[in-house]
Amino acid sequence: MDLGISGKWALVCAASKGLGYGCALSLAREGANLVVNARTAATLNEAAKRIADETGVEVRPVACDITTESGRAEALAAAPQVDILVNNAGGPPPGDFRNFTRDDWIRAVDANMLTPIELIKATVDAMIERRFGRIVNITSSAVKAPIDILGLSNGARSGLTGFVAGIARKTVAHNVTINNLLPGVFDTDRVRDTVAAAAKAAGISEEEAARRRVQSVPAGRLGDPLEFGQACAYLCSAQAGYVTGQNFLIDGGAYPGTF
Ligand code: NAD
Repeated sequence: MDLGISGKWALVCAASKGLGYGCALSLAREGANLVVNARTAATLNEAAKRIADETGVEVRPVACDITTESGRAEALAAAPQVDILVNNAGGPPPGDFRNFTRDDWIRAVDANMLTPIELIKATVDAMIERRFGRIVNITSSAVKAPIDILGLSNGARSGLTGFVAGIARKTVAHNVTINNLLPGVFDTDRVRDTVAAAAKAAGISEEEAARRRVQSVPAGRLGDPLEFGQACAYLCSAQAGYVTGQNFLIDGGAYPGTF
């Protein structure tokens, strides 16, 4: 199926690796030009070149911290226009909520709630004027099924989800949709690091820790960032103009509820 986004411009945040990279690559394979962002220039430039070489689209890398005002301004300035916005940033650290300080909370809310809101604010009116816009926020399965040690993530991302639920019903009349993608456990550096840490804490091998990690996933495996990216590409497609305000869980069946 042709997703109808060839020649559009997408800003994909936190996209040198992992889920952001999967989204960027999938959009590029559909012909969308990209501005990709991450903090480390070397890794980002390499990722941008890989995508451009494979797909032939224009890919502009912008190395900056997307959670800062100057970083967001740089990323936005690199795109001639933003037709598609994929919001993403690193997730907050785990821990016991008793140990989280006010600064920890401010950092989490800044990265995982206010940064996407600022980027939506900066792009949505021009999308409305052009009568096309697709905004996808990468959140977490923890929004639907909170994970006790991820209190910072549960809280900050639920705030974003509530905000999006309100405005997504306003923008859709102008063919501008806003949806959230909720990853379960995907095979990314972040998850590999947590598996390594769990192995160390339990005194077991990393293979054993990985086996235990997928035990709670009915699919029996970790998700592939590219299958996540393909779902993102669908939500950004011309065909998805009637889908807005949704929370799309991609977790290999891990969430056990009917709805
Ligand atoms: P990852 O560590 O594999 O990749 C993170 C990417 O974000 C990298 O490109 C990194 O350079 C970039 N990045 C991080 N902070 C940034 C910042 N402030 N500014 C710009 N770029 C930044 O991580 P991932 O597994 O792809 O996770 C992406 C998001 O999804 C995170 O918020 C994570 O908490 C969330 N998430 C991931 C999973 C999973 O299974 N991988 C599950 C639930 C939620």
